[in-house]
Amino acid sequence: MVKRAISNVSKDAVKDRYKRPLRDLRISVTDRCNFRCVYCMPKSVFDKKYKFLPRSDLLSYEEIEQVVKAAAELGVCKIRLTGGEPLLRNDLEKLIEMIANVEGITDISLTTNASLLTLKRAQSLKDAGLQRLNVSLDALDDKTFMAVNDVGVSVQDVLDGIENASKVGFESIKVNMVVKKGLNDHSIVPMAKFFHGTGQILRFIEFMDVGNSNAWNLSNVVTSQEIADMIDSELPITPAEANYKGEVAKRWSYNDGGGEIGIISSVSAPFCGDCSRARLSATGSIYTCLFASSGHDLRKVLRGEDTRSVTQALREIWTPRQDKYSETRTQVSVLRPKVEMSFIGG
Ligand code: SAM
Ligand code: SF4
Ligand code: SF4
Repeated sequence: MVKRAISNVSKDAVKDRYKRPLRDLRISVTDRCNFRCVYCMPKSVFDKKYKFLPRSDLLSYEEIEQVVKAAAELGVCKIRLTGGEPLLRNDLEKLIEMIANVEGITDISLTTNASLLTLKRAQSLKDAGLQRLNVSLDALDDKTFMAVNDVGVSVQDVLDGIENASKVGFESIKVNMVVKKGLNDHSIVPMAKFFHGTGQILRFIEFMDVGNSNAWNLSNVVTSQEIADMIDSELPITPAEANYKGEVAKRWSYNDGGGEIGIISSVSAPFCGDCSRARLSATGSIYTCLFASSGHDLRKVLRGEDTRSVTQALREIWTPRQDKYSETRTQVSVLRPKVEMSFIGG
């Protein structure tokens, strides 16, 4: 089981050009998903002919463990497993156990659509050392939710997954809702009312221009201020202090003591200044920004074709980092190739 520490500043901690440390590693364990969310893996692109990665191209768990060890030496303490849909990997528990034993790692979380989260699976993930869970759910009515996931999965399937997770007692369960104007913005207040008082923190995410498939346009974004105003008019809220520097979601507390919500405003109020996140794709490339065009190939290092140590390679990737995409994006998504969210994870 992972030991929690308030802070784990490694003596070899690295900083990028803007003095941002590397603290957080998001690991995509698969590029596959059983959903086709219209804002992430639209069927028009991810159809029957789409070529997902062959299993042999994915990093082995031993290789991922090596990257985690090197990252921990450089200051990483938080690991998030994501995808694609991470629960499509049957033996994910083995990887979680391996990561939980890496010195310096104090926090392990998983982002999932929860449709495959049976009680048995939730228990085995918890037993392996998973501490926190983020579940994505974009509406409470089947018509809207099915229009989002586009594969006919019902809201109840996801709520059952959340219920199973809460039965096994994770340290926290957060529910993430991506808001896209005209698609599910009418679900903002019903979602807030549903999760109010449950202890499960609902977080609203502005629709982002990740990848090149989702036809992003600024006019589809409901801003964090608009989201906060909508909720405030029904369930009054007050801004709350951040839990820690660099927290991605802006916190708001319900005035009646019914808990809190978070709003992630990567479009209307970007937070690049504190961004300490790197992403590892399922094929072993490191991305220093969610909106990067290309990654840095660590697989060659892991497989001995590049003679540097993984720690050295990671240091050389992070030190010159200058990414600040969200602070410089324009009204229309920049016309340059960007990696897909399902490839590097959210
Ligand atoms: N399949 C898992 C899930 O949906 O939770 C994990 C991977 S998914 C790529 C991670 C997160 O990215 C989800 O919360 C999803 O809603 C979010 N996401 C995907 N595309 C997005 C977009 N265009 N804008 C904002 N968030 C997005
Ligand atoms: Fe799959 Fe998650 Fe993307 Fe939806 S957001 S398509 S569940 S990876
Ligand atoms: Fe970090 Fe890039 Fe997002 Fe800015 S745009 S917060 S640098 S991932």
